[in-house]
Amino acid sequence: MTTNNTYDIIIIGAGPAGLMAAAHIQHKRVLVLEKGATPGKKLLISGSGRCNYTHEGDIKEFMLRYGLHGRFLKQALYQFDNKKTIQFFEAHGLGSLTDKNGKVFPETDRAGDVLGVLMSICRKNEVEFRFDSAVKSVAPSEDGFVVETFDETYHSRGLLIATGGRSYPKTGSAGDGYRLAEQLEHAVIPPKPALTSLLFSNFEFVDLSGVAIYDKQLSLYRNGKKLYDHRGDIGFTHKGLSGPGILDFSRYFESDDVVKINLCNLPSDELRTLIIDEGKNSGKVQLKNFLKGFDVPESLVSRLLQKIGVDEKTTLATIEKDQRKQVVEWFTGFSFTIEQVGGFNQAMATAGGVSLEQVNPKTMESKLVKNLYFAGEVLDIDGDTGGYNIQAAFSMGTLVGRGIGR
Ligand SMILES: Cc1cc2nc3c(=O)[nH]c(=O)nc-3n(C[C@H](O)[C@H](O)[C@H](O)COP(=O)(O)OP(=O)(O)OC[C@H]3O[C@@H](n4cnc5c(N)ncnc54)[C@H](O)[C@@H]3O)c2cc1C
Repeated sequence: MTTNNTYDIIIIGAGPAGLMAAAHIQHKRVLVLEKGATPGKKLLISGSGRCNYTHEGDIKEFMLRYGLHGRFLKQALYQFDNKKTIQFFEAHGLGSLTDKNGKVFPETDRAGDVLGVLMSICRKNEVEFRFDSAVKSVAPSEDGFVVETFDETYHSRGLLIATGGRSYPKTGSAGDGYRLAEQLEHAVIPPKPALTSLLFSNFEFVDLSGVAIYDKQLSLYRNGKKLYDHRGDIGFTHKGLSGPGILDFSRYFESDDVVKINLCNLPSDELRTLIIDEGKNSGKVQLKNFLKGFDVPESLVSRLLQKIGVDEKTTLATIEKDQRKQVVEWFTGFSFTIEQVGGFNQAMATAGGVSLEQVNPKTMESKLVKNLYFAGEVLDIDGDTGGYNIQAAFSMGTLVGRGIGR
């Protein structure tokens, strides 16, 4: 059947993944169906409106920034890596700037300019857009797919589901894509908030709000067993813990897990030996000053010593065995039992999503349904903070667009 509503490809979702795919397809009839009244709502608020769209560095390192699922992205990232992404925008008149942490932004510092480039390429490619068009169902047809919004029915040979995850649902990505994937027999790994903070109903260390600790080892324990290690910067907030070290680690968090922060980045027996040895060599050194030497802010050292009942003026020579044991325990394993993590309204990404096992990483095509594709956060992929999520969406979108364009 060929009607005015028949397309070569329908893309559901005008976020970075869907738009980047559309920008790579020429000489085909392409329709983008977007639930919102405008495209790229989440892209526009990304990086606090500056859009940190990728990260500098070797693309091999990128694979390590997506938890256990980085390998799935290998082909996508190699085909359209961070350097190619920067070049892509440069070729369309938008230069980049890289901050001291390696985050890459548009040189204008405006997310709207990243969106502007994508939309102008789409317009040049004569991509059609329908806004305020939430897709409610998808089904296979004899020669492709039937796609229904609340007031129209469309047909296409190919279909790309690029509806994003569930975080910040007000931007439009409210998890619809999971239902659409299930309508086409795809399995969905239960979504949960990622890139989110640790919250406590009565945060014991609220007085430390604003204190930051840098480059500390973190470990996650479940039922007493260590599951994952991580390293990063942590910030105390008035409700709990945040900062990149916590956000990036949060994809693994479950209620009642224990997060331990090693404030000295040393095994406990090494810290114990150091205190004993230093006590013999320079015994007059105060415990507080000794602990500050591990790049632990004074306010945190004092607060912990107070909590465990050790006078901060105690010297390394005079510390009692029991006190030393406590100090070693707390400063190598500052522990928090997870009560709650920030929900989908606060999380910047979604862990879980359409199962990777049923999607071909070389093309992003479904292994179950021919000409069905997935790209972006709708898949069971989530990256660290720093530009890794938008890069993943761009890389996957490019892979799909190039494949379909061919
Ligand atoms: C506050 C915030 C800041 C962020 N900052 C950064 C950053 O600086 N760098 C970074 O790398 N990542 C950042 N992220 C994450 C990043 O924005 C996302 O990972 C990325 O936008 C995902 O792209 P996507 O195209 O897969 O999905 P989305 O951007 O979520 O786009 C999906 C689109 O699909 C549409 N849609 C959903 N359901 C339907 C439907 N049924 N019918 C039609 N359309 C539908 C939605 O309206 C939406 O426009 C941030 C996220 C948040 C919340």
